[in-house]
Amino acid sequence: MEFDTVIQDGQVIDGSGRPRFRADIGLQDGKIAAVASGERLSARRAIDANGLVVAPGFIDVHSHAEWILPLSDHASILAPLVLQGITTVISGNCGFSPAPVTESSAPLVDRTAGMLRDRPLEYSWRSFAEFLDTLQTNSLLLNCAVLVGHGALRLAAMGDRTGPPTSAELEAMCALARLSLRQGAAGFSAGLAYAPGVFAKNDELLALLKVTAGEGRIFTVHGRAYSWVSPFYQPMFFGAPHNLRSVREIIGLASQAGVRLQLSHQIFVGRRTWRTARSVLKEIELAAAQGLDIAFDAFPYTVGNSTINVIFPEWFLAGFLQNVNDLACLRRLKRDIDLLRLALGIGYADLRLLVSGVPELEHLEGLDFAEIAHRLRLPEFEAYMHVARLSQGDARILLGTYSGDEQEETPLRLALSHPLCAFMTDTILSHHPRHNPASFGTFPRILGRYSRDLGLFSLEEAVRRMTSFPASRIGLQDVGRIAAGLPADLVLFDPLKVADHTTPTQTDLPPTGIQAVLIAGEVVAQQGKLVDGVLKGRVLRG
Ligand SMILES: [Zn+2]
Repeated sequence: MEFDTVIQDGQVIDGSGRPRFRADIGLQDGKIAAVASGERLSARRAIDANGLVVAPGFIDVHSHAEWILPLSDHASILAPLVLQGITTVISGNCGFSPAPVTESSAPLVDRTAGMLRDRPLEYSWRSFAEFLDTLQTNSLLLNCAVLVGHGALRLAAMGDRTGPPTSAELEAMCALARLSLRQGAAGFSAGLAYAPGVFAKNDELLALLKVTAGEGRIFTVHGRAYSWVSPFYQPMFFGAPHNLRSVREIIGLASQAGVRLQLSHQIFVGRRTWRTARSVLKEIELAAAQGLDIAFDAFPYTVGNSTINVIFPEWFLAGFLQNVNDLACLRRLKRDIDLLRLALGIGYADLRLLVSGVPELEHLEGLDFAEIAHRLRLPEFEAYMHVARLSQGDARILLGTYSGDEQEETPLRLALSHPLCAFMTDTILSHHPRHNPASFGTFPRILGRYSRDLGLFSLEEAVRRMTSFPASRIGLQDVGRIAAGLPADLVLFDPLKVADHTTPTQTDLPPTGIQAVLIAGEVVAQQGKLVDGVLKGRVLRG
């Protein structure tokens, strides 16, 4: 038989974790039609994969692309994801999803997602089904599955009131969650450190987790704390490390509800938190041994997205615009921040300004705050507050000391090499010129640096945890494997050359070694460039 396309003579790593094998892969009508080991297939078009690995397209298990996908120019903004081999994003994480919304909750949803989105969305949808339909009608650069966010449910049911829901409101949230899951949401997500997730008590979460379990879906969660001390547990300096308490608390809730659990971006923030890495991972292993369906995810960098507000305590944020100009408040704030920085082991050089949104600060973008202080001839705290004030708290930063720094990354390697760790970018792409390096190099960095160069795990294991593992966690049937009958979402890469080239100061350099990316049988990227106008992405419904 003659196929549409044949990928010739590649080393197939099929996503299952089994050893690679040489084969031709025949594609027909957008699907994998044959995987032939030891025989040549013929086709109208041949792609030479000699010397290359052919793997299932990578799955970014934690993305915030749902705020970009509805935009008509999303392909140009999200291109760096495809160029690193990603063909499917799991979005709607950390409690933030653009649906479902009501007339009155849409502006609230848009406001709480301020840090995640490039620009305000139009909210031409209301229900989750309408949102997914809108995405599919718009044509997509890559596949997406979308979780329903706790924030959207809460804002729809009770507006932005911060107290606990009434029983009627909780019932409304549960009903909306159930409906959204039945309409194709891939699971339920919560962000317990952000408004409004931060206001949710455990009984509210438990009710929603029971709904999620009842629908057979997964719960993904940004926990209450990722550092050994945090404002979330009082008194602050007593008891078990806060990140460990947070993981324990979530495991307890998930066990009670019987829900599948994904701990999002398992990071250890602040040098003094690093020593907790083993005990947190042990806690996860213990829960798994006791029968909980649990896993986590991580990115291969020691920096992550944040906002300039991240180091401000709640009392300061509550009246930000007045407090930021009030000398007494600023004195108290400096004491609080100095104490927190000392307790966590974070310096101003670990905080890098990414996007200020203010023309007069643009020349400082890309610099860390020790350098910014030097340039502005101000003490570090004053320099930081100067940027906070001028950006009205909206500046985006890259926060360092996530599971390591440039000298030491044992906690990061412990997380990445763990068999329960899926990989993710957690990235927030926008049209701004400065980026999180994870947007460009995550998957090539795992394949190159952590698998090939450092030998933390085999290439087959790396690919498994980029493909079939997240697919089966989320419950996606037709992505993450190479097998006859599945859509041909594939990535061809050079195992000797695949590498990330981002640096702390130049975070947007493209990777090498990703030769071609196919979605539904069409080449969507080749030799580091998108093929214009190929929009073959599918909405993957739960
Ligand atoms: Zn998060």
